[in-house]
Amino acid sequence: MNVLVINCGSSSLKYQLIDSKTEKALAVGLCERIGIDGRLNHTPAGGEKVVIEDAMPNHEVAIQMVLNALTDPNHGVIASLDEIGAVGHRVVHGGEKFASSVVITDEVIEAIEECNELAPLHNPANLIGINACRTIMPGVPMVAVFDTAFHQTMPKDAYLYGLPYEYYDKYKIRRYGFHGTSHSFVSKHAAAVAGLDLNNSKIIVCHLGNGASITAVHNGKSVDTSMGLTPLEGLIMGTRSGDIDPAIIEFISHKEGKTIDEIMTILNKKSGVYGMSGVSSDFRDLEKASNEGNERAKEAFSVFVYRVAKYIGSYIAAMNGVDAIAFTAGLGENDKRVRKQVCDHFGYMGITIDEEKNAIRGQECVISTPDSKVKVLVIPTNEELAIARETVALL
Ligand code: ADP
Repeated sequence: MNVLVINCGSSSLKYQLIDSKTEKALAVGLCERIGIDGRLNHTPAGGEKVVIEDAMPNHEVAIQMVLNALTDPNHGVIASLDEIGAVGHRVVHGGEKFASSVVITDEVIEAIEECNELAPLHNPANLIGINACRTIMPGVPMVAVFDTAFHQTMPKDAYLYGLPYEYYDKYKIRRYGFHGTSHSFVSKHAAAVAGLDLNNSKIIVCHLGNGASITAVHNGKSVDTSMGLTPLEGLIMGTRSGDIDPAIIEFISHKEGKTIDEIMTILNKKSGVYGMSGVSSDFRDLEKASNEGNERAKEAFSVFVYRVAKYIGSYIAAMNGVDAIAFTAGLGENDKRVRKQVCDHFGYMGITIDEEKNAIRGQECVISTPDSKVKVLVIPTNEELAIARETVALL
């Protein structure tokens, strides 16, 4: 079966058409500037990227253009829409309502809408994508796969904040965690590559991309993760601050006369290694600046690494041990310095990295030495494939 995987944002839409038998993407693409003007980047497997610029006033038009591209006689990959067996949608927040993926029905859409206030920037856009697909492809089964679902197994010790309990009761303010599809996918692969029984294992997954989070996976289940009510908590990220003393918000507000909204924008978009270095949110730019002697770029990198190591240490405590540590996403898969410097914090536990294997890029492999007490791995994530697998499994 071919599964169309859709990741819909407010003005963009990423897609992949995946053949569930071979698990290969037949085509990948991105609609940009929806509601502004409109550009579709479409790449058939093994072919050249095609850029189509045409008015995209809304998501329905964008999806229609995607379907046209997929069935186009020149750059298409299927003869007709009948060859799309199902659609898998990424949905950011499933609150406490969704602990796993679900087949989309009217009731499911209502329940997702009820989670909107927990992710006001993401969920409404995900729903627009779902509704647009339902209009254009009536009768094609659709599945929602939630970023939060994998973390619903976290125990209360891990998900409650030290706040008046009424806020949890009334508003469901608690830690949820994100990147669940990736943490689930990577922990399964890590267990297989490390030769561990997933159901009897302690694995720490470090998803280090622009957004970054770490998860403690005990016996295949998430027991703690670094993001919280929103994806702002936890690690220092490209542009997000991660954990800070909440009193800083009041302090900045008084000193700079800023509103809460303005400060939230600073914490989400102007902080992290970008804000610290003043250089860039991209670690490749930071490395270049560091090599040229930029001290703040060096410092930002070093603080980032330290925070990752601290989280890993706390998750070793949470699970009372660790069998494997897996690195994934843009930075985790590609940056050998991050992996080496993070692991150097655990020399006392007998974790050692094989420098040669660590230099390999973007491939599934074990990078620890054979005598290392804990296996360290690089496992490229593939959230689209994970969504396609979930979709097929449910249907
Ligand atoms: P997201 O999906 O959260 O936008 P990605 O997983 O694509 O992020 O990761 C993007 C980040 O990965 C970039 O900002 C960059 O810092 C880092 N990255 C990507 N490729 C490399 C590389 N070859 N070397 C070092 N860092 C890289």
